[in-house]
Amino acid sequence: MALIVQKYGGSSVADATSIKRVAKRVTEAKKAGHDVVVVVSAMGDTTDELIDLAQQVTPLPPQREMDILLTAGERISMSLLAMAINNLGVEAKSFTGQQAGVITDEVYGKARIIDVSPSRIRDTVARGEVAIVAGFQGVNPSTNDVTTLGRGGSDTTAVALAASLKADVCEIYTDVDGVFTADPRIVPNARKLDRISYDEMLEMAASGAKVLMLRCVEYARRYEVPVHVRSSFSTHTGTLVTNEPDPDLDSEKDTTMEQPIIAGVAHDRSEAKITVVGVPDVPGKAARIFEVVAAAGVNLDMIVQNVSAAATGLTDISFTLPATDGATATQALTAHQPDIGFQSLQYDDAIGKLSLIGAGMKSHPGVSARLFAALSEAGINIEMISTSEIRISVVTRADSLDDAVRAVHTAFELDSEQDEAVVYGGTGR
Ligand code: ASP
Ligand code: MG
Repeated sequence: MALIVQKYGGSSVADATSIKRVAKRVTEAKKAGHDVVVVVSAMGDTTDELIDLAQQVTPLPPQREMDILLTAGERISMSLLAMAINNLGVEAKSFTGQQAGVITDEVYGKARIIDVSPSRIRDTVARGEVAIVAGFQGVNPSTNDVTTLGRGGSDTTAVALAASLKADVCEIYTDVDGVFTADPRIVPNARKLDRISYDEMLEMAASGAKVLMLRCVEYARRYEVPVHVRSSFSTHTGTLVTNEPDPDLDSEKDTTMEQPIIAGVAHDRSEAKITVVGVPDVPGKAARIFEVVAAAGVNLDMIVQNVSAAATGLTDISFTLPATDGATATQALTAHQPDIGFQSLQYDDAIGKLSLIGAGMKSHPGVSARLFAALSEAGINIEMISTSEIRISVVTRADSLDDAVRAVHTAFELDSEQDEAVVYGGTGR
């Protein structure tokens, strides 16, 4: 008997029929003798619809009210699921994030969990009942206001609860069969990974793979929570995120099998590029530019500085940032144009980023050469490059990103010869 935390995403609880299907799945785990705690997202596109509604009322909704509004989505799905489970003869109770003891900082819209004290959840489970918790929300103890954790935050709720309850596993149920070598919506013959390490999953999530939220993976790694990503629409085994070595890859049993070099190819369409043109090439200018951007609260990703032209002593500096921060960064830099002394700014949001991720690249030479060869054969121009120990990222034109992902996926022999990956649900909204 195990303690299992199960998290169901919005597409798994999109309507009454889906909620009843999830209820059945929960009761099956319960009847198999396990203790079950369930975390739910809002039904289908509810969160987006609530955001649209707020926008219709006012262009600038107060953040406190926005969080109260958005927490309603998860409260709808949690209570409906509790009713459906009760209807199948198993006792179930639902709890808001606050009731479940999810304590956060005070940052509305992207609060961080600072503590979880789930005594009511423990009591519920001890009574043999199923506890259902609203994902994506908590409470700030100093204001006593509800907060939300940022889009996709229910994954983090689930992992944080699993860590606090010392659960045996945190199962994240989604609309694909696990973590794939690329987004199956772009690469239909992407392959499902049986296992992936926390570090690789962290790089995948940070590079745009949406299957797990970045914070959730950070949390899982810190507390070593084994995360099983799987589909609520099938009974297939999914992907285990863990640092435990694969028992099937025991080198003494089979020396021909090796850990794969590459875990996968991630892509991200959410960034933009700012080029600061004509920056005087003297010490201190780059520092000023990035101080100004940081003071505006904007996080940068890649940075490139060109060699300065000898004749002019001027250089160009380009960097990428979330496109949603584009206006903020541009305004801040323009305000400081006189003291920094650059000539002009270029803003470009028609870029895409491809990232190749794999722990094996540390010890295998030639990975970048193969990546660049694949892109050049596909006729794709590379605009920027950045690397970490286990990742290489390149910026391309947004409209060649899908082709780039497919070309690189094939070049690293990641294509599956078997069936096409199935995307069961979700509008991808
Ligand atoms: N309902 C929230 C969202 O759509 C949280 C989640 O789904 O995890 O972002
Ligand atoms: Mg989600």
